[in-house]
Formats: sequence, structure tokens, C-alpha cells
Amino acid sequence: MLAGTQQIFRTKHPVAIYPASGTGAWEAALVNTLSPGDAVLMFETGHFATLWKKLAERLGLKPEFLAVPGTDAATGLPWSWRRGVQAELIEQRLRADAGHAIKAVCVVHNETSTGVTSDIAAVRRAIDAAGHPALLLVDSISGLASADYRHDEWGVDVTVSGSQKGLMLPPGISFNALSPKALEASQTAKLPRSFWAWDEIVEMNKTGYWPYTPNTNLLYGLSEALDILLEQGLEAVFARHERWAEGVRGAVRAWGLPIQCADAAVYSPVLTGVITPAGVDADAIRKLIHERFDLSLGTGLGKVKGRMFRIGHLGDCNDLTLMAALAGVEMGLKLAGVPLAGSGVQAAMEYFASHPQQQQALKAAA
Ligand code: PLP
Repeated sequence: MLAGTQQIFRTKHPVAIYPASGTGAWEAALVNTLSPGDAVLMFETGHFATLWKKLAERLGLKPEFLAVPGTDAATGLPWSWRRGVQAELIEQRLRADAGHAIKAVCVVHNETSTGVTSDIAAVRRAIDAAGHPALLLVDSISGLASADYRHDEWGVDVTVSGSQKGLMLPPGISFNALSPKALEASQTAKLPRSFWAWDEIVEMNKTGYWPYTPNTNLLYGLSEALDILLEQGLEAVFARHERWAEGVRGAVRAWGLPIQCADAAVYSPVLTGVITPAGVDADAIRKLIHERFDLSLGTGLGKVKGRMFRIGHLGDCNDLTLMAALAGVEMGLKLAGVPLAGSGVQAAMEYFASHPQQQQALKAAA
């Protein structure tokens, strides 16, 4: 199972597994690598980046938050919550840090609050171009096993992930994938840690044990999830998500509503954020859809509360469950009196029907 987990992260190095939700693994990444008062560079991509920054502050670190400046006049939303990490801003900031006070760069790969999947390889290139020794810590809690992710190839030092998204499990286990540089940093890092400490976990995992009681039920589930994902092949898993995402975006475009991610290069294959027209309370629409159709949509979080809702298209899902979700949204929008340009359901049906999944296409070709 540990070997299978490494395959999912695309790493040859150890992956620590915690009986905790993703927030625990966020904390673990910081306390194992950093010391009190260390400066860390974070990027405001949305609610989860903001929560990770708050956690860093509570640990006594000094996070600096970079962001895309300004507000989108058309929707009133901050640009930073509609775009991905801007690697050139990170490079600029690191070049200015000649004394190497910044010890880590922390970014969210798939920002679950906005539907943006940032380019992590570009962040690695930015750190290297600046010739800066900072560690690269990445939250791929909602990206892993749905969006392309390469821990070793992209030179990530710690990847944080969780069980309840692309791994299709209940919440309750989370991960730190490590690099040799991160393990080395942990030898001198001074933030207090015990439960989260990598050393005993990595050592005991070598003989198949944990230093404390692992979350056995979920590990059985993880073993099944790994079988499913690795049997399908990661490329097929990513293609499956890209296809669902494009079908859903087609629906949103047909409705005439803005997709929250304003940069097509970083559309998320995991979820799509839909902005409601100014003056229309997205949470009232969510409530109506929940009450009428028993369909629960993701809420707008933090700075976009009430202005958007989220449609998830990840993991254990299929064309028909997605079509049902889109039908629920379309009926709800109509009941709420939101003017729609056209039928998103029709657009998505046409897309899914004319774009068979990889396996279906292979079968048909055979
Ligand atoms: N980071 C991201 C990107 C998330 O989507 C989440 C949860 O949805 C978290 C962090 C926090 O993880 P958890 O709620 O499992 O503690």
C-alpha cells in the first residue's frame, strides 16, 4: 500500500500517512520543516490558501501573502480568487530576498474554493531561476488522483494530500509526500512536534508498522482505491476528469454564467465554480436546489461567499450522475428566476455523447 501511494504521488521517496483530516497534514508539513519565526511565502488563490496561511501564523511562522492585485469590475470578485499562482511574482519576491530569509514557498495546487489548478512546475522553475534555496510545499489535497501531479519531477519538497477527494474515500487520513531535502530540513527544524514527526513514521514504515495506531479501516479503503486508480492508469484517470470538467464548463457557458476560473490554462478538472449574477444570492439558490432536488452543491467560501456555487466532478462519479447534478442546477436556476442564455443540460448531453470516454473509445475502435 505504501508503494502504491508513492505511485499516486509519483515519488520514490517516503510518504507519511496520518490518521487526520487534511488540516493535520498541512500542519505536519510546516512543523517538520520550519522553525519559530521563519518567513514563508504563500500565494492567495482562495479560501484554502488563506486557511493554510492562518495555520502558519498560529504556529508562530511569518507568512507573507502574495496575490494577483485588483478586483474584476464585471463580477466584483478579487482577481486572486479567479486565477492561479503567478510564478513570476514568486520569482520576483525570491530574487529580492538576497539574504534567503524565506524558508519555504507554500502553494495550493488545486484550489477547491475557486476551481483553479495552478502550474506547480512553473513555481519550481521560478524558485530555481531565482537561485533560492526555499523549500517548496504544495497542498494537493483536492488535486491528487484527479489532476496531473508529479512530486519528484516537479521538485516538490512536501506534498500535502487527503483521502476524501480523488482517492474517493471518507475523510480521515492525510499525507505528506517527502523529498530528501525536506527530510534533511526536518533534522534541524525547531517547531515542536511529536504526533506529526516524520522520523518515527518513516523508520517504522520500513517494516510495515506505525509508531501509533493507524486508521486501519481507511487503510483498507486506500488499498482498494489504489487498485482502482492504478488499474485504470493515472493518465486515464486524469483524462476522465478533464472530460467531465469540459462537459460541465460547456453547461455553464450555455447558461451564460461566468466560470469562476478566469484563465482557461488553469481550469480545474476537479470542480467548476459558477458565479451568479450580481444581486443573486448563490446560497439561496443552493438552499432551494437542496430542498427541491436533494442535491447539495459546494458553497462559496470566504471572499466569494454568496457569489458562487461549486459543482464537483471528481472521483467516483459518472456521466449520468453529473447530468443529474446539472439538471438539478438548471431547474434550480430557473425556479430562482435567474435568466439563462440557454440549456446547459442540452450542451453537456451533446458533449458527453459526442466525446466517449477513453475506455469506451478504445472498445469501439477494437
Ligand atoms: N486544502 C484544500 C485544497 C482543501 O480542499 C481542503 C478541504 O477541503 C483542505 C485543505 C482542508 O482539509 P480538511 O478539511 O480535510 O482538514
